[in-house]
Amino acid sequence: MPSPITITDVQTILTEPANSRLIVVKILTSEPGLYGLGCATFTQRFRAVHTAIQEHLRPFLIGRDVDRIEETWQMAMVHSYWRNGPVLNNAISGADMALWDIKGKRAGMPLYQLLGGKCREAAACYAHADGKDEQEVEANVRRFMEQGYQYIRVQMGGYGGRASELHKPEGAPDGAYFDPRDYVRKALRAIEHVRRAVGPEVELLHDIHERLRPIDAVGFAKDVEPYKLFFLEDPLAPEDLEWFRNIRGQCATPIAMGELFNHPREWTPLIQDRLIDFIRMHVSQMGGITPARNVAAFANMYGIRTAWHGPGDVSPVGHAANLHLDLWAPNFGVQEWCRFPDLVYEMFPGTPEVRGGYMYPNDRPGLGIDVDEKLAAKHPCKDYVDRWTQTRTPDGTPVRP
Ligand code: MG
Repeated sequence: MPSPITITDVQTILTEPANSRLIVVKILTSEPGLYGLGCATFTQRFRAVHTAIQEHLRPFLIGRDVDRIEETWQMAMVHSYWRNGPVLNNAISGADMALWDIKGKRAGMPLYQLLGGKCREAAACYAHADGKDEQEVEANVRRFMEQGYQYIRVQMGGYGGRASELHKPEGAPDGAYFDPRDYVRKALRAIEHVRRAVGPEVELLHDIHERLRPIDAVGFAKDVEPYKLFFLEDPLAPEDLEWFRNIRGQCATPIAMGELFNHPREWTPLIQDRLIDFIRMHVSQMGGITPARNVAAFANMYGIRTAWHGPGDVSPVGHAANLHLDLWAPNFGVQEWCRFPDLVYEMFPGTPEVRGGYMYPNDRPGLGIDVDEKLAAKHPCKDYVDRWTQTRTPDGTPVRP
């Protein structure tokens, strides 16, 4: 038997080409020229993930057989004893995706082939339409429709409207203010307006971003029911999962949930009790392709579809992983997508291409994506304290962003 190909080094690439600090792991092997890439992006705590990879995971991984992905993942999860947190899950994902990339390269096949082959030629994507008022939102929805998108997320003023006109107390500190009750009124108005304007065929989505009190989220899900959303995203926070039963009991608005999930105990009851319709973890946040594949198969048994998290704070390597899962999963629903600026395509050759609202694979082996490390180094991550996650209600109370 030939001796196994082993991991010889684990490198971490930190780069910020487009307002999100991205973390990409590169695994080098004992076979000259053979390496793999994985996404470990937790943009708000990127230095903690970097340290977890370099100081803890790297010594654990060096010398291991690149072929033993499952065993490596299982051992990496329990090796720290304390587990299932965002920093460590992202670090493990970087290695897990890179090992899948290597396995695909060794097989000479795109990753979706190793998962079981394609169920579809491309993944339908949804784009984000926003605006300061209903007219601007409608114009942006129509712009995406002209580009061929069949699924469009409708927001007005981001997650909760602009704060300029809020009635704050004297001495109110700095922060990203919003009014949850005002948000409900305005978001409903925008969705109603767009549905009336564009007709029933285009699929509309909306993301609450866990910004409402649970009872207001239940009310919103009921009130929005006549406009036939494709799904309502993150109506509740992970801390309020028991409230999903109240939504389910009162309306048939399809529900999507999961980008904040870390731990299997968060998603398994929602799937088993059929309280949601789309499972949508940030794949690096749950630990990579290995657990995402398992959850997709598990959700399929319960009639629940996938809609993996896919905004700008997923690296292009992570988007490539999403795409391979999307092409394979029999229960794929839709893929979130934000088009990157040209610089990102230059930095990550093989970044998935979207044409006419569909994301297509490039059919190179593995994840099918590479990174220009010199160009990445020219755009280093900047250290700053995020402002948009310092969210407050009008009286100044800190709330979930
Ligand atoms: Mg979201």
